[in-house]
Amino acid sequence: MTHQIYEYKDDQNWFIGKWADFNYLTCFGNDTDYEKSQDIFHSLLKRLGVESLQVHIAQLSYDVQLIAFLVDVINQEMKRNLHIKRHQGAVLVTEADQLLAVYLPDGGIAVNYFFGRGMSDFGDKLLIATHNEGKVKEFRKMFASLGIELESLNDYPDLPEVEETGMTFEENARLKAETISKLTGRMVLADDSGLKVDALGGLPGVWSARFSAPEPTDAKNNAKLLHELAMVLEQENRSAQFHSTLVVAAPDKDSLVVAADWPGYIAFELKGEDGFGYDPLFLVGETGRTAAQLSPEEKNAISHRGLAMKKLMEEFPTWQNKH
Ligand code: IMP
Repeated sequence: MTHQIYEYKDDQNWFIGKWADFNYLTCFGNDTDYEKSQDIFHSLLKRLGVESLQVHIAQLSYDVQLIAFLVDVINQEMKRNLHIKRHQGAVLVTEADQLLAVYLPDGGIAVNYFFGRGMSDFGDKLLIATHNEGKVKEFRKMFASLGIELESLNDYPDLPEVEETGMTFEENARLKAETISKLTGRMVLADDSGLKVDALGGLPGVWSARFSAPEPTDAKNNAKLLHELAMVLEQENRSAQFHSTLVVAAPDKDSLVVAADWPGYIAFELKGEDGFGYDPLFLVGETGRTAAQLSPEEKNAISHRGLAMKKLMEEFPTWQNKH
């Protein structure tokens, strides 16, 4: 710490500063000037991790002069390499390749003026690797809270189908997410899910959708499952889990992978009208009800997909900020 007194003065601005034990700002002038300078002073110092700067403002006309003064003192006292850049009326504070703070003029700046393009081209977009608009709708709800827009494969009709040739849920979800991300240069989310039945050594597993190939349907898959379990007579020996793996891939980044299981039992007969796939045979814990007897909201709150999505929402912001 030096004992230097710093000063900036021109016809319309006058600031004095010194390094001390804590941040402190005093100001002559009206309430508006005071509030504005408090905002700039405290937000910038917090962003830059500064805890020892005391400043007095005798007159403030241009925010940029105050920001420049603060940056100058911090550079000298902390041996930092902060720079100020002007861009379309905003003041940007940078260091090396990092943008650390942005100050906008009163009333903001039109997005297309700032970026040279419209609001619809701006911001993070996530491409969901599915044609199923139902799935997209569910994901859209969750990602809206993070300010992320969703697209689906229906927005990219020329992309080739990615074959699910993996032996595990993660391999398949990675295959879809990473292949489509490479082809489009986009951030892509893919999921793979299925039913694992313990008495069948985990089958149908990744083959859940194709269990009754060559021309599988939900009804034929369920009939085959009942047939395979015909000799397993005790309910407790018919334990199973629905599984869901979600993968988010982006160019030049390790993918984010989350997974969740939903435990239950395979019933002796089909029950319930809601849901899809194996839902009418999947007994939810000891409730005696199948997944097809739950409302969509009840199912989403406890299902493998609901749980995996919850994990994804928790881990996504940290993953997105990683380089
Ligand atoms: P995919 O994840 O879209 O490839 O789905 C794989 C298959 O697993 C589906 O076709 C269903 O047969 C089964 N499956 C996955 N999740 C569920 C579920 O929540 N209920 C019923 N069946 C499911």
